[in-house]
Amino acid sequence: MSENNNRNPRFIIESPTGDWEVVIGLEIHAQITSNSKLFSGSSASYGGEPMSHVSLVDAAMPGMLPVINKQCVRQAVKTGLGLQAEINKYSVFDRKNYFYPDLPQGYQISQFKHPIVGEGIVKVTLKDGSDIYVRIERLHLEQDAGKSFHDIDPQSTYIDLNRSGVALMEIVTKPDLRSAEEAKLFVTKLRTILRYLETCDGNMEEGSLRADINVSVRRPGDELGTRCEIKNVNSIKFIGMAIDYESKRQIDEIESGNEISQETRLFDISTGKTRSMRSKEEAHDYRYFPDPDLLPLNLSQDFIDEIVKELPELPDDKKDRLMEQYKLNSYDADILVSDKKYAKYFEVVAKGRDPKLSVNWISGELFSALNRLSLDIDQSPITADNLGELIDLIIDGTLSGRLAKDVFEIMLETQKSAKLIVNEQGMSQITDESSIEKLVDKIIDENSDKVAQAKEKPKMVGWFVGQVIKESQGKANPSKVNELVLKKIGL
Ligand code: ADP
Ligand code: MG
Repeated sequence: MSENNNRNPRFIIESPTGDWEVVIGLEIHAQITSNSKLFSGSSASYGGEPMSHVSLVDAAMPGMLPVINKQCVRQAVKTGLGLQAEINKYSVFDRKNYFYPDLPQGYQISQFKHPIVGEGIVKVTLKDGSDIYVRIERLHLEQDAGKSFHDIDPQSTYIDLNRSGVALMEIVTKPDLRSAEEAKLFVTKLRTILRYLETCDGNMEEGSLRADINVSVRRPGDELGTRCEIKNVNSIKFIGMAIDYESKRQIDEIESGNEISQETRLFDISTGKTRSMRSKEEAHDYRYFPDPDLLPLNLSQDFIDEIVKELPELPDDKKDRLMEQYKLNSYDADILVSDKKYAKYFEVVAKGRDPKLSVNWISGELFSALNRLSLDIDQSPITADNLGELIDLIIDGTLSGRLAKDVFEIMLETQKSAKLIVNEQGMSQITDESSIEKLVDKIIDENSDKVAQAKEKPKMVGWFVGQVIKESQGKANPSKVNELVLKKIGL
């Protein structure tokens, strides 16, 4: 798999000077879902009054000692298993030393030479339906820093340590991505996996998931080029924009006869450009060394086995199962597994019903309604059981497709069941011949002049059908109407 990734260019940028290939590797920071921080008992929840989730450990008071949070270790192992990665039973916490106002210890506790998780793999399905495999290099545990505010006061910087010490997983990929599109799909897939595992909520707006993006360009077949690292991008859209800008910038530089110098850059969301932050020469020397306050982690096989037992069905497995069990195509299955709540909703709707019709209603009507109302599927005014009942009424002929859409809208507003609405409002489809015949006769009588025209121009039949359906307030079964109109006009 890795060889393929490197040998066959998947995405080429053409230029008068020849072809270019973009190479991307990501370092993702994912905040671990846990009640308390990595080495203290303070709350790890987002927000809160400034400085309200800060223990003496988080504030780095002298003499305070870190105590590892077992739940965070479990979450990291669980994530490693979800990434099909090697779990390292032996791992070590190191101090990464740097000076920054929102880092009260003067160092971050991280893992350097011995991370808790080693190499893994993530399958990503591209838009054209083909799959790529992105190799994970490692996953390690580390603390988050506090937050500085430079815009509250003109003279001072304010610091909030609520985030200080919150547990992060840094997930590092090999340089296996080849375009902005691939990087975006990879992050989306990784976020889905983390959410299935419930090890990170994936909320990019709240900073729970953010990416450092390494970008370089090369002529296809060449060795890797010099990379630049774009720090801390926190939306999937911006990840794409940053890669597109940065790769073009590097190509322009090289084509103008300049060299790329390895540096750290920032993505400016207001301009859509990246700009230099510091060069390699100015890069920090972190003086890593094992943290003397913490013992190495030694995980037992039992501890790991217990976590294996708790693993949920993951997106790739769920996709395979849905395709097999419900005979769905890959496209529909991808939509359903992109969020485990979608798949769960689907399986209730599809129970004993046509799966294709079920997906269509979910990914069509339901998703667009939820989108319009800015609601998540678990806040849907229409429960899965109620949507299923609506589909039953379509299947048994009570509702035409059009009427069903009207009933769906009323269900959205009233949260009533489909049957109740149909009964209350007399919305069921008219299918019996004699009722439809009466309507057809009426329209034909009223438009006798057009009957002659219709005989000449059979396209006119559509007009009659439309009139009859209108007369029935949308309730007459269209194919029956069509049949009767043809018969009455004598075509
Ligand atoms: P460092 O230790 O300096 O952070 P690593 O070798 O660990 O560097 O790589 C960090 C990230 O950069 C990884 O995601 C890796 O895939 C990516 N990377 C390394 N070399 C390149 C390159 N030439 N082009 C693009 N990405 C790269
Ligand atoms: Mg790095």
